[in-house]
Amino acid sequence: MKFFKSATAIALTLTMAMGLAACGGSATPDETEKDAQDTQQQGEAPSGDVKTYKIATDTTFAPFEFADENGNYVGIDIDIINAIAEDQGFEVDLQVLGFSAALQAVEAGQADGMIAGMSITDERKERYDFSEPYYDSAVVMAVSATNEDIKSYEDLKGKNVAVKVGTEGFAFANSIQDQYDFDMVVFDDSNGMYQDVKVGNSVACFEDYPVIAYGIQQGLPLKLHDKQEAGNSYGFAVSKGKNAELLQKFNDGLANIKENGKYQEIVDSYTK
Ligand code: GLN
Repeated sequence: MKFFKSATAIALTLTMAMGLAACGGSATPDETEKDAQDTQQQGEAPSGDVKTYKIATDTTFAPFEFADENGNYVGIDIDIINAIAEDQGFEVDLQVLGFSAALQAVEAGQADGMIAGMSITDERKERYDFSEPYYDSAVVMAVSATNEDIKSYEDLKGKNVAVKVGTEGFAFANSIQDQYDFDMVVFDDSNGMYQDVKVGNSVACFEDYPVIAYGIQQGLPLKLHDKQEAGNSYGFAVSKGKNAELLQKFNDGLANIKENGKYQEIVDSYTK
């Protein structure tokens, strides 16, 4: 597996707030296993070349994608795409771009597909084809753990709210901005957003529930508003009308790893 990192991703990596080590590109045990299996499959059917797909993802969106202490990219999304690749006999060239850059790379045909905790929205369906949903989500507001002032959206009046460009959290904040009269501070990545709330420049941020709840469980000093907003489930995406073959492989592989227990094993390994 190769890693492509944009300058932003490198900068982010260096400033990551959650104590993660710098990224590297060495193979994980899973990949070694996958390579072995691919060799075996090729051995059995020496006819075809194994296809390699460029799959774009976010930088830090734990537990879906993040660098582990050795700098390898891990997470539910990464393990799912690798398990599906193994099941369907293709190779993954992971491109760690950041969410908004990944959206653009897929649309521009620079990546074949993306898996990045990406919500399946009607608006996006005009530009992307989505797989079957593989994980449910919601949007929630978070404030600093020590904040006692922000109890409701009304309390955001005249204050800064941190959001991440191109996301459902951004879209939700945007939809209520006029009503509650706050300013939005826009970040490329989730860590930048959390950091802004931690240091008190923003009083709140809007993020996907499964991600921020995991972060808090891992020690992020924020707390959640009790009201969750409806969010869409996550799907794997390809550019609209462009990569039906890969989408089919994803859906077939997803069905197989759900059937054989691998999907649940992956989710449990990060959430239990
Ligand atoms: N689920 C959100 C969205 O699709 C956020 C994804 C992300 O930040 N990686 O907009």
